[in-house]
Amino acid sequence: MLRGLQSAGRYMIYFKNMDKVSGRSAMPEEVLPDIYRIEVPLPKNPLKYTNAYLIKGSERHLLVDTGFNWSECLQALKSGLKLFNASLDKIDFFITHLHGDHSGLVYQLCSPDARVYCSRVDAELLMETASPAYGRESDRLYNRHGFPANMLGKGYNKRDYISGEFMNYVYLNPKDRISVGSYRFEAILTPGHSPGHLCLYEPFQQILISGDHILDDITPNITAWPNVNDSLGSYLNSLEQIQQLHVKMVLPGHRSLIHNCAARVRELQEHHRVRLNEIMQILANGAQTAYQVAGSMTWDMHYKNWNESPLFQRWFATGEAIAHLEYLHNQGQVKKSSQEKHCLFSLP
Ligand SMILES: [Zn+2]
Repeated sequence: MLRGLQSAGRYMIYFKNMDKVSGRSAMPEEVLPDIYRIEVPLPKNPLKYTNAYLIKGSERHLLVDTGFNWSECLQALKSGLKLFNASLDKIDFFITHLHGDHSGLVYQLCSPDARVYCSRVDAELLMETASPAYGRESDRLYNRHGFPANMLGKGYNKRDYISGEFMNYVYLNPKDRISVGSYRFEAILTPGHSPGHLCLYEPFQQILISGDHILDDITPNITAWPNVNDSLGSYLNSLEQIQQLHVKMVLPGHRSLIHNCAARVRELQEHHRVRLNEIMQILANGAQTAYQVAGSMTWDMHYKNWNESPLFQRWFATGEAIAHLEYLHNQGQVKKSSQEKHCLFSLP
């Protein structure tokens, strides 16, 4: 059973088996030859930690993801790199996606000649989301979907941990290669959790670095973005893409390593199928905004009702509801209409 609405930096996630997670960072470990996992703690954040992966090469090394731009994250990362004798001037970076718990420390850590691999889409969004204009655009989107105007801009969608600084990005396109040591990684564009999310696949060793596209214990949040149509449709297509690969081990952005990728992908697909069915049942009661639909969806929150739940949780829930409703609309399963300022969804 998945459930439990939680804040996770800029997005919401569902937890299951919370008691499996100690909340303490484990010692950095070698998970595969020359691939080291460094747990970067995220204090007071339900995600608990980000997995950064150091892949050692003969000349230069690659660091996958970093954690937030927080002192606790910086300290853990630096300790891990020191433990494995990786000096910062020999490190290039790969950012799976723009979220601050993955990209937050790159600007601070990268040396002047370091390459920072990322998708163009997420690199540009990383710059854009740091601007007040993007915040206003995002507020307009949520308001159109019924989020109350008088509750917008109350600080629940803070963007404190996002670096808006320009970096020496190397944009990766699908099938672009990154070679480190004996590994030959290929970039796979997996939009959904973010519009330009990237995974790295090593076809010879059958290893997938999955970022937040595929996680164990947690279902990645799929939400609404300004100027992005159908995040959930993109996400489901990206899952299908991964299902075509031979994968022996998944190195995810949070929590445990995954040894049965195909089974986990099927669970994630089923999770969204169940959510879509639930929304169709909710719409049987009549036309509603995404905000209203979110209020009727089952969330395992410790609040008596939707209107008493914290604003940031309503914000994340509404984003998720919009993503599912837009998907159903694109599939022709629900109608979308405008009434005054709001967008309404209904059964055909
Ligand atoms: Zn993320």
